[in-house]
Amino acid sequence: MADTSGLVDYHLHTARCGHALGNMEDYARRADALGLAEIGFSDHFPMLHIEDRALAMGLEELPAYVEDVERLRAAFPHLGVRLGIEVDFLPETVHRIGPMLEPFSFDYVMGSVHYVDGWGFDDPRCIEGYQGRDIFALWARYFEFLGEAAECGLFDILAHPDLIKKFGFRPEADVSLLYENCLDRVAKAGLAVEVNTAGLRKPVGEIYPSEEFLKACRERDIPVALGSDAHQPEEVGDRFNEALELLLRVGYEGITVFSGRRRSTLDFKRGLRG
Ligand code: ZN
Ligand code: FE
Ligand code: FE
Ligand code: ZN
Repeated sequence: MADTSGLVDYHLHTARCGHALGNMEDYARRADALGLAEIGFSDHFPMLHIEDRALAMGLEELPAYVEDVERLRAAFPHLGVRLGIEVDFLPETVHRIGPMLEPFSFDYVMGSVHYVDGWGFDDPRCIEGYQGRDIFALWARYFEFLGEAAECGLFDILAHPDLIKKFGFRPEADVSLLYENCLDRVAKAGLAVEVNTAGLRKPVGEIYPSEEFLKACRERDIPVALGSDAHQPEEVGDRFNEALELLLRVGYEGITVFSGRRRSTLDFKRGLRG
């Protein structure tokens, strides 16, 4: 089995989002026990298009979230504790995000597409929305938004890049052109995509993104970040052996890490590289 110690988990949530459990110290302790080199909190940025405290913290909580992460960094000096945030991309709110992130010293900002034309397609409460839908058209729309998210200039990492497969609704037609057109835009925009093991815990039962998608990333030299999308301490570093095996199989030699929004590569063999 691949050795996953020394890796980083850049996608951890906190109880502030309303649907995660545990205290932040326990996430850090779990990372320590696994021998991870760094963790990054990337809790959900406040929702701007709806009011739903089961999905994200309120805007007034953002400063306290940042302070919590900074306090944890001081308490676990041997573990690199990074400050991230997971921001929803919606065309109608994207112009408001930049100034709201500005006051804080994030190490990285993740962009996520969880909504297509106002529908929260990955929310189990909204799953009836799949009834009678043209799934290929939905996927095309999703990857169009993901391309827009890449180009909006706000993000360092695109989170769980094929989240649209979460519940296992897949088009019958070939989707490789959707991937390729989207990833041409991602490569040109110069940001990273995330390999996220949460998909293994969802109905689809597969890492985000698929091997085919990740191969297309590799062909374009798109850097990859790594995260578990932990919503409880036990999920930190969850099934990273499978993620590492996938990355090695596709030909990646390292993953990307961030400090103050500057990117470097954590090489699987030789440690940190500028
Ligand atoms: Zn969440
Ligand atoms: Fe997400
Ligand atoms: Fe997340
Ligand atoms: Zn997520």
